[in-house]
Amino acid sequence: MAAKKAPKSSQRHEDAHDTSAEYLEAPSPAKHNPFESMLARFDKAAEKLQLDPDVYRILRQPDRELTVSLPVRMDSGRIEVFTGYRVQHNIARGPYKGGIRYAPDVSIDEVRALAAWMTWKCAVVDVPFGGAKGGVICDPLKMSATELERLTRRYTAAIADIIGPDRDVPAPDMNTNEQTMAWLMDTYSMTKRYTVTAVVTGKPVGLGGSKGRRTATGFGVEFVTREALAHWKIAKPQKATVVVQGSGNVGGIAAERFAALGYKVVAISDVNGGIYNPKGLDMAKVMAHLASKRTVAGFGGAQAVTNSQLLELPCDVLVPAAKEDQITAVNADRIQAKLIVEGANGPTAADADAILDRKGVIVLPDILANAGGVTVSYFEWVQDRQGYFWEEDEVNTKLAKMMKAAFYDVVAYQDRYKVSTRIAAYMLGVDRTARFTRLRGLYA
Ligand code: NAD
Repeated sequence: MAAKKAPKSSQRHEDAHDTSAEYLEAPSPAKHNPFESMLARFDKAAEKLQLDPDVYRILRQPDRELTVSLPVRMDSGRIEVFTGYRVQHNIARGPYKGGIRYAPDVSIDEVRALAAWMTWKCAVVDVPFGGAKGGVICDPLKMSATELERLTRRYTAAIADIIGPDRDVPAPDMNTNEQTMAWLMDTYSMTKRYTVTAVVTGKPVGLGGSKGRRTATGFGVEFVTREALAHWKIAKPQKATVVVQGSGNVGGIAAERFAALGYKVVAISDVNGGIYNPKGLDMAKVMAHLASKRTVAGFGGAQAVTNSQLLELPCDVLVPAAKEDQITAVNADRIQAKLIVEGANGPTAADADAILDRKGVIVLPDILANAGGVTVSYFEWVQDRQGYFWEEDEVNTKLAKMMKAAFYDVVAYQDRYKVSTRIAAYMLGVDRTARFTRLRGLYA
């Protein structure tokens, strides 16, 4: 178990009761460390809420961090030892919940940030979960399916003692998918000697998965975009131009839905670069090109743009749906979008917040905008425990209702405290988590 490192500021102010002094002296964020980015926003929210300093110290750091070594036999016969993490941030509102990411640049600070974002996100959409996240340092694109299966089974065995339907419920994230979740569920079930579908969400339909889970995050992105366009009178959906970074589970599905509902998707990208057509892209053809070529790059009838050029294109709505720290102090001033809807987790570094605020760019933050995924994960967990499965319409109707409610809950905090939408969302998430922390009290 990795040692917990208390943030310096909370130690310095161990006995402080003057809340404003405590928050104002919190460290400024290191450049583009996602955990520091999260803490910078958390500290602002805590200050605005005048959060009880005791609760502040509890919520500021993860409950538990597990680091595991994963020896895996590769197809060549050689053994490779991977490093994996599971960070459990907070359990006040329910079992820990959060995805598992496979990528070469996974780091403990990234997993910590993602775990905390899950706590606030679950609270913002008011699902009864806490926050967690997992990650394994590996390059999944260079691994075979059998190597990925062995890695997933070994990782599951290594974290089996701290997960479970009432403890911690993983889900897919970058480079993990329904198949990964099926392997995880099967391995965990083997340790228990019976099938435990509710240990993980994002499973294949038929194996305890929920209809509508695959599309949930992308659909949720559109649901809150629609509310924001109407609430702030930015544009009618049929007149709105949309730029999407990333064409995976979040970006690709959101872009398809935007196009199907009449929004004009003018640009989309993936890791290889982007495509731009100011007259609007035919998203059905773009997705067919992506399916056959495994990239949107090279799509005919559009000009090629880099990922950084794409972010700066003129549009009403920009949806960064790829990875962290895409909008920073370096390019924030050049963003032309009126509304940023964060499909990815942490796509905007904390140092860009003030610049976007000054420009009047409205940001629907990740902990609201991409919460559709965890909302339907909650539905999946409920269905698994009941052994009774819902129709897709029912899932989507309930999802739309919860996303709309969360949007207006955030707007209510924004109006009441006169803060940005991002800080309003953090305040809502922190306030709801703090309330349960106080109600539960301290054990021992
Ligand atoms: P994915 O692997 O399906 O797709 C990622 C996309 O981003 C791909 O198109 C990839 O080519 C592109 N990409 C990767 N690196 C890039 C780079 N450096 N520049 C530009 N594009 C790049 O992943 P996903 O599930 O769509 O997740 C994307 C983001 O959304 C992540 O931040 C994830 O944590 C977040 N998220 C996902 C879900 C979900 O349900 N899948 C839910 C909430 C949040």
